[in-house]
Amino acid sequence: MPLFSQASVRILLLLLVLACLVPGLTGAAVLFVHQYQEGRAQQERDTIQTARALVQAVDSHLLRVQAVGETLALENSLAQGDMARFHAHVRKVVETSGLAANVVLRDKDEQLVLNALQEFGASLPVQPSRAHVRRVFSTGKPAISGPYIVHQFNQPIISVDVPVMVRGQVAYSLGISVFPEHLNAILKLQNLQPGWVAAVLDETGTVVARNITPEKFVGNKATPSLLQALSTSREGSSESISLEGTAVQTSFSHSSATNWAVAIGIPTKSLQEAMIISLARLAAGIAVMFIVGLVLAWAMGGRIAHSVRALTGPAIALGRGESVQAPPVHVKEAAEVGAALVNASQLLRQHNAELQEREAELAQAHTRLRDVIDSSPALIYLKDMHGKYLIVNRTYENLFGRIPNRMATGRGEPGQENGYTPHEESPSFPDLEVLEKGQTIQFEEKIETTEGVKYFAVSKAPLRSHEGQMIGICAAAVDITSLKLAEAQVRELVATLEKRVEQRTEELRVANARLLSVNDQLIEANSQLEAFSYTVAHDLRAPLRGIQGFADALAEDYAGVLDATGNDYLKRISKAAMRMEQLIDDLLSFSRLTRMELPLGDVSLDDVLQQVVLNLGTQIQAGHATVKIEPHLPHVHANKTACLQVFQNLLSNALKFARENTQASIRIWAETPLEAPGVEHNNPELVRIWVEDNGIGIPVGQQERIFRPFERLNGMSEYPGSGIGLAIVDKAVRRMHGHCGVESEFGAGSRFWVELPVIATEA
Ligand code: ADP
Repeated sequence: MPLFSQASVRILLLLLVLACLVPGLTGAAVLFVHQYQEGRAQQERDTIQTARALVQAVDSHLLRVQAVGETLALENSLAQGDMARFHAHVRKVVETSGLAANVVLRDKDEQLVLNALQEFGASLPVQPSRAHVRRVFSTGKPAISGPYIVHQFNQPIISVDVPVMVRGQVAYSLGISVFPEHLNAILKLQNLQPGWVAAVLDETGTVVARNITPEKFVGNKATPSLLQALSTSREGSSESISLEGTAVQTSFSHSSATNWAVAIGIPTKSLQEAMIISLARLAAGIAVMFIVGLVLAWAMGGRIAHSVRALTGPAIALGRGESVQAPPVHVKEAAEVGAALVNASQLLRQHNAELQEREAELAQAHTRLRDVIDSSPALIYLKDMHGKYLIVNRTYENLFGRIPNRMATGRGEPGQENGYTPHEESPSFPDLEVLEKGQTIQFEEKIETTEGVKYFAVSKAPLRSHEGQMIGICAAAVDITSLKLAEAQVRELVATLEKRVEQRTEELRVANARLLSVNDQLIEANSQLEAFSYTVAHDLRAPLRGIQGFADALAEDYAGVLDATGNDYLKRISKAAMRMEQLIDDLLSFSRLTRMELPLGDVSLDDVLQQVVLNLGTQIQAGHATVKIEPHLPHVHANKTACLQVFQNLLSNALKFARENTQASIRIWAETPLEAPGVEHNNPELVRIWVEDNGIGIPVGQQERIFRPFERLNGMSEYPGSGIGLAIVDKAVRRMHGHCGVESEFGAGSRFWVELPVIATEA
């Protein structure tokens, strides 16, 4: 487990604060040490600087004293040997200068010649001269003594001696006594920090002046460690022990003029104290930072922990599916999580509601499915891989009397599979086939049921899971018992029927043979009839011509003999004979059309129609009729003579059956059956030619009739004719492998059509 996997937020934040502060702390410590060392070095430099300044101040003081001495040494009275006057002058200088404690004059023999503090003329003792005095006489240059006790003052003094030259020789040494206090004052004036020790040391290392307890130490030698340092360098710093016995850091500087030195000792303790104080301040600052950081971390950790814990309740409520309220929290992220929990709870509730709805729908669908399965007249059942029944429908139960513990909802109960008590049964042979092949099989089965033996058309298919894995068998069996019975009946019926058909076929064969012979007889009779009618018509012509001839002769020769009635009869005979001739002509034409050969070929309908119009020119002119033939009539595969006959009959009828007081108007055009959708024969190899008039029209019920021979719709007096014209049209068109017909409305003109095989012409 990771180290802080279960640590609280507070601990983690505290650790974070520590982790943030420790590097800073280390850096601060290093910096501190560096600064401390730098501070020490700087302090040493500063102290040496101070010592240097003090050396200069001491030098300047001593040089001032020396200058006073040199001035005195040049005094006239001295040169003149007027000692009394010189004594008086010197006394004044001692009193007024403030520099000198005393002035003495010594000769070569170390005899005191003058003492300013004694009355002139008093006997002066011989004093052993000091080394610096001897130096004055030997070098002729000023010299300064170290401190020494003079009984007169009962305290140490120093003496600055200058040579007094008489006639080029050092005659005297003039010494000016100076109290070390002056130098002490110089040291004190520097205002050194408390505890710091400053001392003026002569060239031998003897203490000349001191800022602390000079009365005790002036005249003493410096400590050996300092003496050692002074002897090795002109300036510097070293660790040493003060005369008081305290450890000090001493910095010193030598005077180049006098070779004296000033040393300043700083107690090591105070230095350490400063460092300790700085350290303590730093530590205190760090500690404060630590404490502040830790307190803040603790407080913030507490707030975060509180905010996180506050989410626990809503999270549990969310888990239970209860409604969630956003808890009051102090952390933005926790507030966001809270809001997300509220949102999630709403979504969950919505989802739950949808889920319940779906469940209800599912239950309903299941019930419906159950109902559908139960209502099915077929047997429906499911088996598992071992042949155990999983589901059977009601039809199955009714027929087999087995009532497995079925459940309407289909939800499983303990110890049951899909709500059904499995019916133990090892897989049957067809089941095994389905399970082995994984394919649907169909077969018929005869089964003993509660209602007796029944036949079923069984279909068994592999039952597969969503993943396509075979999990059992799904079977449906339809009761085909009645079908089977019907089938047997049908078989029986078929046998009977076959027998009957055989009988009927025999009867039909006999009847057909009879019909064929009748047909032959009819054809024979027909041809005889046609031959007879032709013969009759033909033979009738001769007597008819006779009647016509005699009637004409009678009219010509005996018109005057006969009265009006006789003449009228005569006219009628002539007229009837003419009509009869016409009738015979028509009959002969019709008969000829039936019997004669009709060779077919390429016939231009344009040519045919032009010829017809030419033939009927007289009639057209007489009736003031208009005949419009649309251009480019096609070529047809037909017989030209027959075509002339057909269109002449149609056009002459159109002219004849014109309405009274109406100018006949006839239009002829052609259209392919494809251009006339809905027409009876839409054979693309036929062309339809229309002959339209604006005549009297034909009643709808009569339109079939008029194509039969001798069928006429009008009285002879109104519209004369034989009733053969359209019969000829029909016969001729049929013989040319075509059709004809009419579309008409009584009183509104007629449109006769003729369809003939078209000959495609190149465009
Ligand atoms: P016919 O013209 O000699 O009487 P058809 O066979 O030519 O004999 O015609 C039969 C009948 O069909 C006619 O008597 C007439 O009543 C009717 N008919 C033929 N053509 C037309 C037409 N264009 N308009 C009106 N009726 C017609």
